Amino acid sequence: MKTLLVTGGAGFIGANFALQAVADGLRVVNLDKLTYAGNLDTLESLDGSDNHIFVHGDIGDRQMVADLLQKHRADAIVNFAAESHVDRSIEGPAAFVHTNVVGTLGLLEAARDYWRSLEGSRKESFRFLHVSTDEVYGSLGETGKFTESTPYAPNSPYSASKAASDHLVRAFHHTYGLPTLTTNCSNNYGPFQFPEKLIPLVIQKAMAGEPLPVYGDGLNIRDWLFVGDHCSAIRRVLNDGRVGETYNVGGNAERTNIAVVNTICTLLDAKSPLADGRARASLITYVKDRPGHDRRYAIDSSKLQRELGWQPSHSFESGIEATVDWYLTNQPWVQRVLDGSYRMERLGV
Ligand code: NAD
Repeated sequence: MKTLLVTGGAGFIGANFALQAVADGLRVVNLDKLTYAGNLDTLESLDGSDNHIFVHGDIGDRQMVADLLQKHRADAIVNFAAESHVDRSIEGPAAFVHTNVVGTLGLLEAARDYWRSLEGSRKESFRFLHVSTDEVYGSLGETGKFTESTPYAPNSPYSASKAASDHLVRAFHHTYGLPTLTTNCSNNYGPFQFPEKLIPLVIQKAMAGEPLPVYGDGLNIRDWLFVGDHCSAIRRVLNDGRVGETYNVGGNAERTNIAVVNTICTLLDAKSPLADGRARASLITYVKDRPGHDRRYAIDSSKLQRELGWQPSHSFESGIEATVDWYLTNQPWVQRVLDGSYRMERLGV
């Protein structure tokens, strides 16, 4: 059985990945610092499983990571751990440099030393997969898509810190030979996303009949991918990707923010109408734009599709409907995030 060290596996994408990997028979050692974004409620269904070991800690703690890798005889590392919210990076960039840059460096050093200690087929098959974002490429005009050779041009402290981590991963491959893989993915949505991000925020506010904040003119474009499809892409790259390569991951689903919000309103109006009969689109409220807000992202994932045969299973329409349904039926999970109890009980504070 393969053992993966998954970092940031109590966050949105990492937890979806851990749930999928354990269900598929892999063993997951889940290292997470449990920042505000880490939520052990998400992993509740794995309680008692021999194939999920949760460890509370920081990716930058090189000795602790080294001990974990040795103790559990890890076959690969999948690095999700990060500070991930653009607005928070504008308020306080230092935490982003601490985890995304310095933390990733510590993890890479521990990974390199562990990999060097391996022998034979275990050394041959070891992989370090770094999960990154399309935001490192900057902003697009009305046409074109990001490819793996698009020059990096990050515009927010978040994307700058992710770009730095991507460069460190690349350097560890070229300098030390560490068998790395990098994925750069578009915006994710789906179950267990922290309700500060656009889609869960809008679903939650729309359910409650509250104003729906939309930045600027609402015409910023993002390329959306259902989280389960991102996880399947990572698994594909981990298994079959060429060492040292990067792979773009995207759903070919460009939507303006306002179109996303309108879609959610329409779905909720049909599934759970407001008591006073108002159409939820009437709740849309334009708010002051985010500083440095990138206009358009679009990702070309043809390399991943062509070389590794990956395809997303969800269209945007089917994925967003599944997501709205998930939030409608999982309100206890959301409420525990909103009232803060998801942290207090687990951390004993
Ligand atoms: P998230 O914020 O939901 O989760 C991040 C997790 O990392 C949390 O559980 C947090 O506790 C943990 N963490 C933070 N600092 C840590 C540290 N120093 N040591 C250990 N754990 C730490 O983020 P997410 O949306 O799940 O994103 C996961 C990864 O995917 C990130 O690297 C992000 O850049 C990347 N990504 C996200 C998206 C997206 O749309 N959400 C798209 C592309 C790429």
